[in-house]
Amino acid sequence: MNERVDVLIVGAGPSGLTLACELISQGISFRIIDKSMSSTKASRAIGISARALEVLHHFGAAEQLVERGVRCGHAHFHSGARQTAKISAETVRHCRFPFMLSVPQSATEEVLERRLTELGGTVERGVELVGLDIRTDSVIATVAAADGASEEPVTAGWVVGADGSHSAVRKFAGIPFDTQEAPETFMIVDVFGERSSTDAGHYYFHPDGMALIAPLPDGSFRLAATVHGAQGRATTLEYVQELFDRRTGSGIRVRELRDAGWGVATVKVRTGIASRYRSGRCLIVGDAAHSYGPLGGQGMNGGIQDSCNLAWKLALVCRGVAGESLLDSYEKERLHGASLAMRAATSQTRLATIRPRVVRYLRDALLGLGTVTGLLDRLLIPTLTQLSIGYPAEALPGADQAASAQAGRRVPDVAISATVRVHDLLQPGRFTALVVGARPTDSSEIEGIAKHFEARHRGLVSPVVLGREAIALSLDGIEQHVDADGVVHAELAVGRPSVLLVRPDGRLAARRSLSKAEELSSVLDQVLGSTAPLVAATR
Ligand SMILES: Cc1cc2nc3c(=O)[nH]c(=O)nc-3n(C[C@H](O)[C@H](O)[C@H](O)COP(=O)(O)OP(=O)(O)OC[C@H]3O[C@@H](n4cnc5c(N)ncnc54)[C@H](O)[C@@H]3O)c2cc1C
Repeated sequence: MNERVDVLIVGAGPSGLTLACELISQGISFRIIDKSMSSTKASRAIGISARALEVLHHFGAAEQLVERGVRCGHAHFHSGARQTAKISAETVRHCRFPFMLSVPQSATEEVLERRLTELGGTVERGVELVGLDIRTDSVIATVAAADGASEEPVTAGWVVGADGSHSAVRKFAGIPFDTQEAPETFMIVDVFGERSSTDAGHYYFHPDGMALIAPLPDGSFRLAATVHGAQGRATTLEYVQELFDRRTGSGIRVRELRDAGWGVATVKVRTGIASRYRSGRCLIVGDAAHSYGPLGGQGMNGGIQDSCNLAWKLALVCRGVAGESLLDSYEKERLHGASLAMRAATSQTRLATIRPRVVRYLRDALLGLGTVTGLLDRLLIPTLTQLSIGYPAEALPGADQAASAQAGRRVPDVAISATVRVHDLLQPGRFTALVVGARPTDSSEIEGIAKHFEARHRGLVSPVVLGREAIALSLDGIEQHVDADGVVHAELAVGRPSVLLVRPDGRLAARRSLSKAEELSSVLDQVLGSTAPLVAATR
């Protein structure tokens, strides 16, 4: 029976599963289909960033993953056999996950699919999208059983293509996706073998190309390198051993090779970013929207963050609380994220493969100096953990535009007490009005603001008071915590009593002084946009 759902998600890789878990937590009806009969068995993406773990923590999947992975708190940089620099994620403040988690993608997908089942959802496997009729008020998808024996129509308000780099949704929606062949050829395999360091990633810079050794939880290692020549060259055990002896001098002894997802052969990759992430009622996330190449650790992490950004916006639009224009901010914000990720991946490879000797000496000397002074941690860790990536304020209508206001930035996950952190105050699909710096004498003003939000935006804004001391409040429904040592206040740079409007994805939308907090209502109106249907639904 073709019962209309709010959203049809095509593809149950990390991006589609993240979106499904987010939507189910926000009470949105959806179907999620995947043409494959099972989740991936390959290790593929092995590095999950701190920010992606925060996203997975929203719906209770991060802890299970952390249990199954290796916490890599450090990365070491070597010039040939000599270590030149080291960075440490342990310097990260105000984050529950101060490390890069090394865990195979097969485990990530398994954990996400199990979490979706626990939350009440199911992936329909062996079901492929084969047709899409895009209308102004809905989409009618044709889906087929994997054996081709049957087809059925699925009517949905929206379709999200989480269907990987060859995305059918992207093609049906006519979204251009120009890619270029990356100049490098890659060799990526997992190996069983002997090696001493098992809790850190090691990057080796060599005039001949770069190499990477990272630990995996079952005692094996991911080996990756840029190599010369065409793709398709078989990577034998002897070839890999010789390459890593020559480039790294790490002493790794390779005993057995295992396919990481691209065959045991050298590969060429194509990189690119789709020019749009939305066309009418079709949206794309993850590899359907971008392809960065395998070494920067951006692909899966980017897809998880696409889904986090899209989920709350799509949920508000489906519930009729926000207008379709809110979805355009998804495209603007995540296209911005994609171009930063592409730049990071490209410059990382360039830095590692510098050939002129003088420039290499200079690079190594600067990296060494950066390690001693701590500058390298300050420069690289925020990008590698993806915690510092903010969105341009102008992408979200209504958000504060002044750079000092920090709209679009992630609110730091400061520990308020031994058991509660700032991100614990956020609720799925709701904005949070975080009242900080208030005094006991501000109680009636706080209650007035809470009543105002409830009257203007019923159920959409949760007021939370975070004072330096307890404030007596007679109104029910206002959560309160005490920031006794003032760490949160210092971190949020709050001098006078203020209200911070925090988006459902933990990013700041706007802030006002307590006396002007009601202005945040009109900010929210602008963010949500008009709920009247847009005339030009297809761009
Ligand atoms: C060897 C290798 C190493 C990598 N290393 C890293 C890394 O270290 N870090 C990192 O971040 N990324 C890495 N990546 C990239 C990472 O694997 C991808 O970015 C990630 O899988 C993208 O997730 P996704 O959910 O967007 O798409 P996918 O994982 O590609 O999932 C798409 C899903 O859609 C389904 N599908 C496709 N078409 C249809 C259709 N018509 N109907 C129904 N279902 C459909 C597919 O069966 C699939 O399950 C690596 C990739 C490879 C191959």
